[in-house]
Amino acid sequence: MNALVLERTKVLALRDIELAETLGRNDVRVRIHTVGVCGSDIHYYQHGAIGPFVVRAPMVLGHEAAGTVVETGADVTSLKVGDRVCMEPGIPDPNSRATRLGLYNLDPAVRFWATPPVHGCLRPTVVHPAAFTFRLPDNVSFAEGAMVEPLAVGMHAASKARIRPGDTAVVLGAGPIGIVTALSALAGGCSRVFITDVQPPKLALAASLGPITPVDVRIENLGAIVGAATEGWGADVVFDAAGYPAALSAALETLCPGGCVVMIGMPGGPVPFDVVAAQVKEARIETIFRYAHVFPRALALMGSRRIDVRPLVTDRYGFADAVAAFDYASKPKPASVKVQIELG
Ligand SMILES: [Zn+2]
Repeated sequence: MNALVLERTKVLALRDIELAETLGRNDVRVRIHTVGVCGSDIHYYQHGAIGPFVVRAPMVLGHEAAGTVVETGADVTSLKVGDRVCMEPGIPDPNSRATRLGLYNLDPAVRFWATPPVHGCLRPTVVHPAAFTFRLPDNVSFAEGAMVEPLAVGMHAASKARIRPGDTAVVLGAGPIGIVTALSALAGGCSRVFITDVQPPKLALAASLGPITPVDVRIENLGAIVGAATEGWGADVVFDAAGYPAALSAALETLCPGGCVVMIGMPGGPVPFDVVAAQVKEARIETIFRYAHVFPRALALMGSRRIDVRPLVTDRYGFADAVAAFDYASKPKPASVKVQIELG
């Protein structure tokens, strides 16, 4: 089948590739409609590796997908042909200890689309377990369905923060993950969110989506702004969706006593950690790796329009232009948030 294949670092091709797509009894076959381009796809394209995951053989990219069920395995009862769906891209070993504990995202054996050596979903069809395939509400488009995966990251972070109604949150970074984290924090009960970035168009977009205050850290001081807004107390929750080395220090500085920092962004290597700065606030520090048990909740929030991700899809390409989409997404305009590729 024709797929978008990463041949090696910086070499992409839309070409025929042999892929086994055997339908198991508990699987569905899905015709892919829309796939979002993720920072990790771009990273593999440009650098060929993320941490320990190294691209050693041609690999199909893409893991943010929505489409239509075209065939169901013999034992599938939850889905039928014609259902519009999105797919959770990480398939754990159902019998692993992590999975049995409910921590299936942490199963060392998890097979995640477009994480080497597992092929991704930028191809006409995929076979996927029905248990990791979710029906879209009627009012949720394929484009929104393909946004569930990044939204799930923000929602998992908001869950880890254990937000209480009325909390004030800070989100460091206004990329796709930063913005969906801000939306998740509001949906989870935060009264307001301060979001930082260095690109005014992204900040302006974030600010248009709710009680979200943009902070351009090139010219504004986050600590002073949050301090002024909270009578000097600080933010209840700080989400780091940027992952730059000094983010943890910045987070601790703006955090209130007893507050929570959630680390979402992945720094390129070890970062310094001022233990005392955390101790004097009894900061709770949480980390996340992808998500677990979030897709149905994300779809419920989209269906009820408590979360609207449509403004985040800023750029669309046809499948024939998939390589161009990746080249654009590697050097996007500052106003770009999410690039999607449409196959349907
Ligand atoms: Zn992603």
